Amino acid sequence: MSEIYDVAIIGSGPAGLQAAIHTARRKARTIVFGKIEKSALYRAHVENYFGVPGKKDGKEILEIGLNQAQNFGAEHHPFDVVKLELTEKGFRIETERAEIFEALTIVIATGVARRKTRLKGEKELLGKGVSYCVDCDGFFFRGLPVAVIGSGSAAAHGALTLKKITSEVFLVSPKLDVPEELKRELEESGVEIISAKPVEILGENEVEGLLLEDGRKLAVKGVFIEEGAKGALQLATVLGVALDPENMTYIQVDREQRTNLPGVFAAGDVCGPPFQVAKAVGEGCIAGLKAAEEAGKRRREMKDEA
Ligand SMILES: Cc1cc2nc3c(=O)[nH]c(=O)nc-3n(C[C@H](O)[C@H](O)[C@H](O)COP(=O)(O)OP(=O)(O)OC[C@H]3O[C@@H](n4cnc5c(N)ncnc54)[C@H](O)[C@@H]3O)c2cc1C
Repeated sequence: MSEIYDVAIIGSGPAGLQAAIHTARRKARTIVFGKIEKSALYRAHVENYFGVPGKKDGKEILEIGLNQAQNFGAEHHPFDVVKLELTEKGFRIETERAEIFEALTIVIATGVARRKTRLKGEKELLGKGVSYCVDCDGFFFRGLPVAVIGSGSAAAHGALTLKKITSEVFLVSPKLDVPEELKRELEESGVEIISAKPVEILGENEVEGLLLEDGRKLAVKGVFIEEGAKGALQLATVLGVALDPENMTYIQVDREQRTNLPGVFAAGDVCGPPFQVAKAVGEGCIAGLKAAEEAGKRRREMKDEA
């Protein structure tokens, strides 16, 4: 086992790498786990990030970010963490290769895995009109008819956001399960709620429609699958990190990105929407600064005890 790290960052997306830039720049001994290839940003093109005009390749942003973090002294270990445990001084981290690391503090920046519906056409038309993120892709459907598939508040909020971008919005939801107030807001906004089950996304090279169980065909150009997000949360919950009580899907943090567990911080998509690079790096920055501060405090306490 190597010497104890000040900060271990779980996740190599924008949140984790921004956290690493801040911890390493503060001379906190930093290790970052995870592969940039598995970041949501890797295959995306970004055109709404501050200071980066045009359509920027997500892969390129990640490579630059990783380089920056390493140049400030962060170590990158491109393997998954499979277990986190509390120790007397901090945390024990086990990787998929059964290596063990120790750190005084942790930043969880593991992103989210979007829930898929496995509808016919979903995989084939992904990126050709099928999307899992209204915040990311809604803008590209200005003036075009779109459908949102989903039964919870993620789908309802997605439909409301789209209604501000385009006029014809269907919310396809056989069992809509949202608070009354949100239902009223949907009705008043003009979103058309369809209670039939979707069976197939139609189209060859781009989305041309959505086929429903009752035989109806919605002539839409975009299909947003908003079944909520499945957080890469198991690691955190096994450790005892609390989730937000409203939907139990994201890690609950305060404005300093602290979780309920002392020494554990979280940042980025894993803390909830909006799923945007700007939010991920903002939270990563705060989490990094606060984790480095906490690690410094813990080091001083260890010295005093010695
Ligand atoms: C198609 C698409 C288009 C998008 N377009 C835009 C856009 O235009 N503008 C915008 O701002 N945002 C966009 N986004 C959203 C943006 O990519 C995310 O909000 C952002 O990447 C979130 O950063 P993150 O660091 O929280 O998570 P991620 O980038 O998802 O990174 C998570 C990291 O955690 C790692 N990880 C997970 N589990 C473990 C584990 N057990 N051990 C170690 N590592 C682990 C993963 O390997 C990955 O490195 C888009 C997303 C998609 C999918």
